[in-house]
Amino acid sequence: MLEIFQKTVSENITFEGIGLHSGKISTVKILPANEDTGIIFKRVDLENNNIIKANFLNVTSTKLCTTLENTHGVKVSTVEHLLAAIYISGIDNAIIEISGEELPIMDGSAKEFLDNIKKRGLKKQNKKRKYLKVKEKIELKDGKREISIQPNDTSLEVSFQLDYKNKVIGKQKNTVDFQKDNLRDVINSRTFCLYSDIEKIKKIGLAKGGSLDNAVVVDEDKILNEDGLRNKKEFVNHKILDLSGDFLLSGYRILGKVYCYHGGHELTNLLLHKIFERKSLLKFTELDSVYISKEIKFNHSHKLAVNA
Ligand SMILES: [Zn+2]
Repeated sequence: MLEIFQKTVSENITFEGIGLHSGKISTVKILPANEDTGIIFKRVDLENNNIIKANFLNVTSTKLCTTLENTHGVKVSTVEHLLAAIYISGIDNAIIEISGEELPIMDGSAKEFLDNIKKRGLKKQNKKRKYLKVKEKIELKDGKREISIQPNDTSLEVSFQLDYKNKVIGKQKNTVDFQKDNLRDVINSRTFCLYSDIEKIKKIGLAKGGSLDNAVVVDEDKILNEDGLRNKKEFVNHKILDLSGDFLLSGYRILGKVYCYHGGHELTNLLLHKIFERKSLLKFTELDSVYISKEIKFNHSHKLAVNA
């Protein structure tokens, strides 16, 4: 069911943990925010220019995680799993204070973020939520990778297919409807990597905080984590989780039927750019009731004026 009104957290929610790539401990605090604020990161370790809006135009790197950066060069990275938890729980507005550059990876999934958000609860706000729909298919191809979105007025449905040479991951695929399906497996699915890639990733200064406690590691035909996978399609389910978090960077709740072949953070971000370049193909709506949507006209260039 689609929500009519915007929501924020009803009280502060705090998390602490190690950053996957930096290996540094950081503390994150989700604070309530007014209507139409959207999601804003605030680096509390810095005194000036420390606000970074969660918007796809602020994405400056998609190398193994999504990094946001404001015009002063201040960054926040590995935002996608918390953003996915924010998307799935239904938060529209929040200030996210963070004590360093990288968000904690927790257990590599969105589970701990979501469990805590659910425990504390959300507060309904007075303004209506804005949904973004597409009137026609918008697609993007890059070699064998591709991503597209087609009209679907009532939900966000994501079909994702991987294409790994590794036999354990292989061509795993799944389709998830974020409005209709049980999202437990998506929420619980952890980030993953190939054992053979770990040295390469560490050489470029990433994955310093990575371990079997926060990632699934696959070595040729076996999974190195003692307890194996949390669900049969954990690899592709994690990619679907990533996509939901990256989609929240549109500043709207996107409704549509998404197909992605072997994509990731970069391809999702390129699709968001393409969607907003096709303004005549977009509809922005609010809901009058759960079933009736009303097209709205407003100046969304304001919405895209980021780095507030
Ligand atoms: Zn991820």
